[in-house]
Amino acid sequence: MIELKNIKKDYGKGKQVTTALSGLNLSIQKGEIFGVIGHSGAGKSTLIRLINLLERPTAGEVWVGGINMTRLGKQQLQARRRKIGMIFQHFNLLSSATVYDNIAFPLRLVKTNQAEVDRKVKELLELVGLTEHSKKYPSQLSGGQKQRVGIARALASDPEVLLCDEATSALDPQTTNSILKLLLDINKRFNLTIVLITHEMHVIQSICDRVAVIHQGGIVEEGPVTEVFLKP
Ligand code: ADP
Ligand code: ADP
Repeated sequence: MIELKNIKKDYGKGKQVTTALSGLNLSIQKGEIFGVIGHSGAGKSTLIRLINLLERPTAGEVWVGGINMTRLGKQQLQARRRKIGMIFQHFNLLSSATVYDNIAFPLRLVKTNQAEVDRKVKELLELVGLTEHSKKYPSQLSGGQKQRVGIARALASDPEVLLCDEATSALDPQTTNSILKLLLDINKRFNLTIVLITHEMHVIQSICDRVAVIHQGGIVEEGPVTEVFLKP
């Protein structure tokens, strides 16, 4: 479903160049929950942002669902990005919009008719357990509820892939577990491919099928979670 081929990513120019990733190859299968773990500055955030081309690689290719993302023009890329949902550490909700309107936002962006918006938003509200909160604003929600809105919004465009950027790092342990359980349910129900980056080992251990350990811009270990973390 996702292939990163010989990726290099530099930030800046000339003497100011920082190489965030180099010689990176990664292959993620459909329906898998794939974790990327590493210390701060290792390149996790760069890696996940390359998958939807929020960052463009300096060299190498990014393939998602059989399409070479690095070859797409601006409009094609925008259309493809709708099939790649993303959730964030700080939720990135529209503070002046209700829960309902936050979830409806990606649908209205592509001029979905109101009956379809309403059907879809209600379905998503139910999925994430926020039906009773649809008229609230983000400031009236707990962190876990905000992330549920983020998840519902990300799913509104029926994505093929869900990218999770430190999605539970701002949440307490109990809320983290409930969000991870929701992600696992969604993965099973829709066979949705999920990529998550985190610096927290227990996040990887609780829901990931496979994991890559990233260090100084390269993958130093990769494999099934049970193998990578049970070595002597
Ligand atoms: P992580 O998510 O693991 O903390 P990042 O991908 O954010 O790592 O960063 C990897 C490296 O790239 C770090 O050295 C960081 O300082 C650098 N970096 C990240 N984003 C930028 C940027 N926009 N401009 C310059 N350097 C950056
Ligand atoms: P409009 O076409 O102006 O969006 P609507 O009657 O569809 O008018 O919706 C008005 C507002 O009411 C929406 O922006 C949304 O905030 C809220 N709303 C509509 N349907 C629902 C719903 N099922 N649950 C909660 N809020 C809703």
